[in-house]
Amino acid sequence: MRKKARSIAVSSGKGGTGKTTLTANLGIALANDGYEVTILDGDLAMANLGLIMGMNDCPVTFLDVLSGDANPEDAVYEDYGVKVVPTGFRFEEIHENLSDVDSERVEEVVSELLRKTEFLLIDVPAGMAETTIISIAAAREMIPVTNPNYSSLVDCYKTIRLANVVDTWTRGLVVNRVGRASDISRDEIEHFMGNTVGSISVILDVPEDDTVHEAERAGVPVTVYEPTSPSSESIYELARVMAGESDLPYEPYEEGEIDQTVKRLSRALTGRKS
Ligand code: ADP
Ligand code: MG
Repeated sequence: MRKKARSIAVSSGKGGTGKTTLTANLGIALANDGYEVTILDGDLAMANLGLIMGMNDCPVTFLDVLSGDANPEDAVYEDYGVKVVPTGFRFEEIHENLSDVDSERVEEVVSELLRKTEFLLIDVPAGMAETTIISIAAAREMIPVTNPNYSSLVDCYKTIRLANVVDTWTRGLVVNRVGRASDISRDEIEHFMGNTVGSISVILDVPEDDTVHEAERAGVPVTVYEPTSPSSESIYELARVMAGESDLPYEPYEEGEIDQTVKRLSRALTGRKS
């Protein structure tokens, strides 16, 4: 039997954390690993996905599907082995359409796309706008993308709260652009999550990598531009974890972990079952 298709919202509180970059490249990595992937540009206002995927000529877009002028399959384009439903960036059109996005229509489109794919990745707009809520609610799972600083993390926390309200499961965090000495650590991030929204682990760190900028200038996604760059390798690892082919690359932080370790050590040292 065909496995149930998975819908995954890639979100963050803040703009510029790397959502679109990660959505596009995670999709390509999953497709290269043999999965059927569809990417939906839920960021109706920014519509950057097509740019990162190097797509310029898309006469029918997600906006036409939302307005009822086209069927979802008319807005599906194939690129780098991935199906993409882009959003247009004609400002007048976006302005008109954004004021009245119908959540039921989005859910209809999502379930239709899910019938023909194994993974549906949704590039979610930043912030708390209605389109953000609608795109998160349309997915079953969410991976928030944060940068390794507290302001990004706090906004990510808000997005996770929002996902909880609309019943979308936060699979785990992706920390993007990691590498500076001043970065907050993975333990701090998981501790923060533990204290605020409950146990949510970091799925993966993606390093700060100039190759991402070079790829962007070349108009090619980084996993295609330089598959062995540090960021591409991390994104491939993320794809394996998301597909359930790899475990988390390290032990997740657990509340009480230190206690457990202390207990185990003291037992070993004293021979007593404390
Ligand atoms: P968002 O969709 O969250 O607004 P983008 O994916 O558009 O963010 O990325 C914002 C900027 O950050 C882009 O210029 C992109 O090239 C850069 N960027 C994203 N990830 C990385 C990375 N791992 N290393 C270096 N630059 C990155
Ligand atoms: Mg974006």
